[in-house]
Amino acid sequence: MTEKTPAHCEPAWYGLKKNSSTGEGKKMKYIGAHVSTSGGVEHAPQNAQSIGAKAFAMFTRNQRRWVSKPLTDKNISQFKEHCKKGGYDPGHILPHDSYLINLGHPEAAALEKSRTAFLDEMQRCEQLGLQYLNFHPGSHLNKMDPDHCLERIAQSINLALEETAGVTVVIENTAGQGTNMGHQFEHLARIIENVQDKRRIGVCLDTCHTYSAGYDIKTAQAFENTLETFDDLVGISYLKAMHLNDSKKVFGSRVDRHECIGRGSLGLEPFKFIMNDPRFDHIPMVLETPDPSIWEEEIKLLYGLME
Ligand SMILES: [Zn+2]
Ligand SMILES: [Zn+2]
Repeated sequence: MTEKTPAHCEPAWYGLKKNSSTGEGKKMKYIGAHVSTSGGVEHAPQNAQSIGAKAFAMFTRNQRRWVSKPLTDKNISQFKEHCKKGGYDPGHILPHDSYLINLGHPEAAALEKSRTAFLDEMQRCEQLGLQYLNFHPGSHLNKMDPDHCLERIAQSINLALEETAGVTVVIENTAGQGTNMGHQFEHLARIIENVQDKRRIGVCLDTCHTYSAGYDIKTAQAFENTLETFDDLVGISYLKAMHLNDSKKVFGSRVDRHECIGRGSLGLEPFKFIMNDPRFDHIPMVLETPDPSIWEEEIKLLYGLME
């Protein structure tokens, strides 16, 4: 495991120090959930606090619409204030982009629309002083060669990075449903290879997607093997975040259906491994499980797995 992680550009309001490796174990794991921004982005930090989260994910705009109102100065200043109050620093906040965006779209007009929307997402993150934007790579829709699609995704990323500063794009691995790219670690590696500014690209591994895509993580040994494969193909230093989800579907199903922690085909074992492995220290680890009413319990359950 090499330490290739680049220094981050930390926004001015970043006031919290990361714990040293000799600190208390529980302080190094940042578990949270994808919380609601209903009523405005500024509500996200309080929604996270109310469930005992130490990290959180959110949408910075309506995820099912192409156009959203710009953020107001009030949205922005209150968001920052609430983050400060709740003790959330940008390194533990993982905004997720809209599901409509396809950065590898095979058709010119639709690709342009996606690139414009993605740039808007990046600019919103900049305005909020955020450090990451989590996104799904894209789909070839059976209208273009998958390799070409991966190059197009990288090109889309390059364009967004050129127009912005300080925000790192975080590609999520997918379950590989339909024509979605990103279910093989090779896809992620290929995208990264074609991104010019490698300091501003990272990866988010979703436990449900990883397992559904055919990488076993069910036992400590299987997880270790999968992480080694990831390190060989992509590089562990690119791992910037995790999505913690159990899966409703069986191993290798290529179907993306999240389940509550410990209640699906994964069970508790993989989460025990994550909670006790220092490779997952300091990064945001976010629940996207189907029942928000038990997120608080799930967060406690996860911290309870630490030995
Ligand atoms: Zn996602
Ligand atoms: Zn996910």
